[in-house]
Amino acid sequence: GMRFERLRLQGFKSFVDPTELLIGPGLTGIVGPNGCGKSNLLEALRWVMGEGSARSLRGTGMDDVIFAGTATRPQRGAAEVGLHGWRADGEEMEVVRRIERGAGSAYRIDGRDARARDVALLFADASTGAHSPALVSQGRISAIIAARPAERRAMLEEAAGIVGLHVRRRDAEAR
Ligand code: ATP
Ligand code: MG
Repeated sequence: GMRFERLRLQGFKSFVDPTELLIGPGLTGIVGPNGCGKSNLLEALRWVMGEGSARSLRGTGMDDVIFAGTATRPQRGAAEVGLHGWRADGEEMEVVRRIERGAGSAYRIDGRDARARDVALLFADASTGAHSPALVSQGRISAIIAARPAERRAMLEEAAGIVGLHVRRRDAEAR
């Protein structure tokens, strides 16, 4: 399948300075003190893969992903996240998403301008993407714990990738 090797951030949320996260084989979690940016890293990964909802990135507008400034550092005018890795066929790939304050965001795939749709298709074909059940955020864990059994079952089926099977079975039974 598709493999990710490196996430590059600049001006994204608390990662104001250029930062690289190496995504080695088997990486399943990130640990660190409260507020150090663990959730922001996961959000950067979702964002570069096409997340379109500001709320699921804990913001009210998309500009909220741009470094907002601190007592000692001014805000930034733009944020950029790059994801480097290999496609399922072994070809190298890099997806970059950049947002300018007040001007929206744009994507590049392998250095060429791309549409949000191209990015969505690239990851959907590899069964991953901004809404992949493999990315478990903090809020999602509380939701799983608080869920009723039927809801929890639906979440687990989604994670197991068998939702499509049920849909096809219902289709078949309806005939
Ligand atoms: P916890 O262990 O509590 O879950 P965490 O490691 O997940 O913490 P994050 O939620 O990723 O931490 O990071 C929170 C920090 O990011 C806060 O200090 C917050 O102020 C900062 N932050 C979030 N958005 C921005 C932004 N747009 N500009 C600057 N800082 C931001
Ligand atoms: Mg967190």
